[in-house]
Amino acid sequence: SLTLDAAWTVGWIRRSAEVLAAERAALNTLDRDIGDGDHGENMDRGFQAVLSKLNDLVDESTPGAVLKLVATTLISTVGGAAGPLYGTAFLKAAGAVGSARCLDAAALVALLTAARDGIVLRGKAEEGDKTMIDAWTPAVNAAAAAQAAGSAVDEVLLIAADAAASGAQATEPLIARKGRASYLGERAIGHRDPGAQSTSLLLRAAADVGRA
Ligand code: ADP
Ligand code: MG
Ligand code: MG
Repeated sequence: SLTLDAAWTVGWIRRSAEVLAAERAALNTLDRDIGDGDHGENMDRGFQAVLSKLNDLVDESTPGAVLKLVATTLISTVGGAAGPLYGTAFLKAAGAVGSARCLDAAALVALLTAARDGIVLRGKAEEGDKTMIDAWTPAVNAAAAAQAAGSAVDEVLLIAADAAASGAQATEPLIARKGRASYLGERAIGHRDPGAQSTSLLLRAAADVGRA
């Protein structure tokens, strides 16, 4: 079964960078519909910067050290709304896992919960405001329920990714109450929130690491 160590965490981030590069144009298009069209560009720039820093990590690194490197790099390279929000998410996630060498299902749920709470602390969005929180919160809830029911880490990751995907899709009929899309009122209806979509991609990447 899957071991969530530093190597797994690096694998998650590498895969995220790959997926965000591939989905850059699609994320820009979503953001063009209800924002300023740069979300794909912002996320791709940030994760490419992270990639170039991963080589600096020492061999005996921990998941928390990797997450902290991601946080500081995203904060200094992404900009806009998403930079500080994702930066805070990864920083709080790093804090939640501490210096553990390997994350069990409970630690994984703590990581996801801390990330979501960090975004809420920073951005004050509630569920239903048509933001990335609408992907994070269903993912956290589903992950916590799966862990409490005894699921192993790979199962928890899969359930979180599925819930984030459904949550991102469920932003489509909503009116936005935070971020640029909130200026559009009813014109935001029918469009998926780009940040919810990027969250869904990140959590899918986590579920796909270490699988065929
Ligand atoms: P900007 O809007 O500055 O161009 P991005 O396009 O990179 O930044 O990111 C936009 C995304 O940020 C939105 O789709 C939304 O998911 C997220 N977002 C914006 N404001 C908030 C907030 N207050 N709380 C949570 N997420 C937010
Ligand atoms: Mg934007
Ligand atoms: Mg912008």
